[in-house]
Parts: sequence; structure tokens; C-alpha cells
Amino acid sequence: MTRKENISELREKLQEIYHLGSALQVLHWDMEVFMPLKGAESRAKTIANLSGILHEKFVSKEFASLLKSAKTKLEAGKLGGVESAIVRELWREFERQKKLPMSFVKEMAQVCSEGHNVWIKAREKSDFKLFLPQLKKIVALKRKEAELVGYKKSPYDALLDTYEPYATSEEISMTFEELKNFLVPFLKKIKDSKNRISSTILKGSFPVEQQKKFDEEVAKKIGFDFEAGRLDTSVHPFSTGFHPNDVRITTRYRKHDLFDSFFGVIHETGHGLYEQGLEAKHFGTPLGESISHGIHESQSRMWENTVARSKSFWKYFFPKLQKQFPDPFGKVKFDDFYRAINFVEPSLIRVEADEVTYSLHIILRFEIEKELIEGSIEVEDLPKIWNAKIEEYLGIKVPNDASGVLQDVHWSGGGIGYFPSYTLGNLYAAQFYNTAKKDILNLEEEIAAGEFSHLREWLRQKIHIHGKMFSADSLVREVTGEPLTSQFFIDYLKEKYGEIYKI
Ligand code: ZN
Repeated sequence: MTRKENISELREKLQEIYHLGSALQVLHWDMEVFMPLKGAESRAKTIANLSGILHEKFVSKEFASLLKSAKTKLEAGKLGGVESAIVRELWREFERQKKLPMSFVKEMAQVCSEGHNVWIKAREKSDFKLFLPQLKKIVALKRKEAELVGYKKSPYDALLDTYEPYATSEEISMTFEELKNFLVPFLKKIKDSKNRISSTILKGSFPVEQQKKFDEEVAKKIGFDFEAGRLDTSVHPFSTGFHPNDVRITTRYRKHDLFDSFFGVIHETGHGLYEQGLEAKHFGTPLGESISHGIHESQSRMWENTVARSKSFWKYFFPKLQKQFPDPFGKVKFDDFYRAINFVEPSLIRVEADEVTYSLHIILRFEIEKELIEGSIEVEDLPKIWNAKIEEYLGIKVPNDASGVLQDVHWSGGGIGYFPSYTLGNLYAAQFYNTAKKDILNLEEEIAAGEFSHLREWLRQKIHIHGKMFSADSLVREVTGEPLTSQFFIDYLKEKYGEIYKI
């Protein structure tokens, strides 16, 4: 056996870059959670400056030469498994960044940061035409980015790669098409069901302090380590990790809707558990990072939907909810409550959508942005195409741009290629959970007894601790024994909503 060589110098340089990255994350988190309004301008400059330093360090001659020599060792088979994975992933990222000239990166950053404000104003006025010139610039730059980065079949793949490394839009299209072919008629059956369900029993008056207490108790019970993380308040809920021992999650509170914050917290807790489950010893390398946005989203969605919207989960927590909020839940029957939190209704706004309709919102965005980048549709046609798809998939009419094509922040910041991750998350979650149920005897009984450690440990060992050791595709095969398919999610929806809506 040949002696394996080390890459200690590269690792050292990498640490510098990662520490700077961590500091940037703290600044972002503070901006969303604590920063006073007037701090925005100077904070943006601080972040832009530090980001520039970070980029320079990553593409510097010194780092490039360390990375190139590590790449030579990798190709000669002189590196062990861990080092090989680190160099493989760094090289991928380096190649991508190298292809984007500094002038292009700056122009993109400028256009996208302007884009955010233009989008906010256009959405306020509900007028797509106000956003059109800016979005045209963004799309033109994203098309250029795809050309600079390069691709095999579709230019969209070059953008998708930022969020879902190694994935192709061809594979995703096939999987999403299967899902859509199931969802559209299934939703129609639900709409035609005589089983009427109302979610009004969930509304009440819930003091924020009490909501916070309940949310925190549940997050703690399922395993979020509050000594290695915090829950705070922000306008848009999110999660971020500076290190596995310092993970931040946020939520927002609505006085009359306890479940907006509740499911938000469980969702972010799922993300947080992934971040806390990464190996501290690999911090500062790709092996201390999550695989992809889709895999990250599988963790949040599994806890939020598969677990926290299940009967088993509420067998344990419903009595506690009733005790904490006797008004209105004291008199609510368990079955009515369970149905209400799983109420399905086609709606215009993605972030408010239920488990059944959510993926249709994503599929239409994926179809639109793929064609947009490929050039088969143009930016000015977006509202028309958007509205037609909403009517075709969800059976409802879009009354204005604000509740249609202008609702999401993503495109305004150049986040084209991000949307598929959400639905991939649902599919991965269903497939992982199916295997977890086989591996953990009595999983549902455990959940009903408030015992979450087996599931949490299973996810940690099977997914979290590996960081970027595997691609998403090889991880799914490794954990579940087969490639990603929409079938597990379809079966899950059929079983759950078939029972709820008696269809
Ligand atoms: Zn999420």
C-alpha cells in the first residue's frame, strides 16, 4: 500500500477562509435579527468588503497552487478518503469561481442587490412592469453565467449546480413530471371530496411569550441543543450555522396563528439539527458542510411535515398543547385537530401552501425558470405563463402580480435554480423516512411516546456526519438502496390524505 500524503498546508489556509466565512454569517444573522434600521447601509458595505476579501483568498495564487498540488496527489491516488473528498469538492468550487471574471461577479452583485429593492417596490404596487427591466438584466446575466461556467445539455444545469451539485435538470424534470401527473388529479379528488375540513378551529389568541415557550419546548424535545444554538425572531424565518456548536434558528410570531410560528420553528429545527449534526472535527472543510440545499430541505421537511403533522406526534403533544392553550384547544377533539393541521386547499401563495399543493408551486417555478434560462420563453411573458400554469395545476385564477409572479424574493437576488431544492427535499424526506421506519422498530410508537432520539441519531449517522463526503445521489442510494424517486412521496400522500379526505 502506498503511503498516503497529507494536505496540511491546504487545510490551514482553508481554515482562514472558513473563519472569515463564519464571521460573515454572524453579520448576516445579526442583520436579520438585531440590527437597527439605520445600520443597513454600513452593514452592506462591511459585508461586501469582507466577501471580496474572502473571494480573493479563495482564488489567490497561493491557495491555487496549494490546491493544484493537492489535486495532483488526488489524481495519483496518494490521498486517503477524507482528503480526497475535501480536494474533490474544493476543486469543483474553485473551477467554478475561476471561470467567473471579477468584473462579472461585481456586476452580478450590483444588479442583484438593486434587484431586491426594485422587486419590493414592484410587489407593493403589484405591477410586474416595474420589475421587468431589472429582471431582464438579471436573467441576461444568469444566462451569461451559465455560458461562462459551462454545461453539458441545458444552461439551467450550470445554475442548478450551485444549489444541487451534480444534479441535472433532465433527471429532475422526469421526477417532477411523475409527481405532477399524480398531484393534479389527486388534488382534484380532494377538492371534490365530501369530507369538508375546516382549519378555523386552529385560530385563537396566543400571547407571544406563551407561543415561544411552547415552540422552544418542542424544539428541545426533538433534540435541538440550546447550548449549541439559539432561537430568535426575524421577519423571514431562517437558519444558519457558524459552527456545529453555534447554530441559529429564527421564527416570527402571529398573535392569532400559533401554527405559523410552530411549524416554522419545527422546520428550522430540522435545518438546525443538520447543522448541529455536522462533525466539528471537519469544520472548515467541505466535509463539515451540508451536501445540498435539497438534502438540507429534506431534514426540515421531514421534521415539519412527516413527523410534526402526524397523528403519532400529536398523541404526545396534543395534551400538552391543550394544557398550555386551554382556549381554544381544551374543547377541540383530537381527530378534528389532526385534520385541521392537514387541511388541503389550493392557494396562490407558495409559502402558505399545504403539503399536497406545495410541490405544484415549485414545479411550475422550475418549469418556468428552466425555459427562461434556455431562452425558449422571455421575461415579458412571465405573468401570462405563470397565471396559466396556476390555473392548470391548481385550478385557481391569479388576481394580480403580487399574489402571482411577484411573490417570491428569489429571482430578484439572482437565485435562479434554487426552487427545485424545496420539492427535492420533500422527495428525499419521504424516501429517507421510509428506510428509517424499516431500520427503527416501532418508530411511530416511539414518536407517540415523545421519544425522538432514535430518529434523530439515525439521521445524524446516515446523513449529517458525512458532510459533503457523498453527492446527494450517492447518499440516497447508500442510505435507501435506490436512486431518488417520487414514488415514496406519492405513496405517503396517498395514504395520509386518502384517509383524511376518504378518497
Ligand atoms: Zn427550509
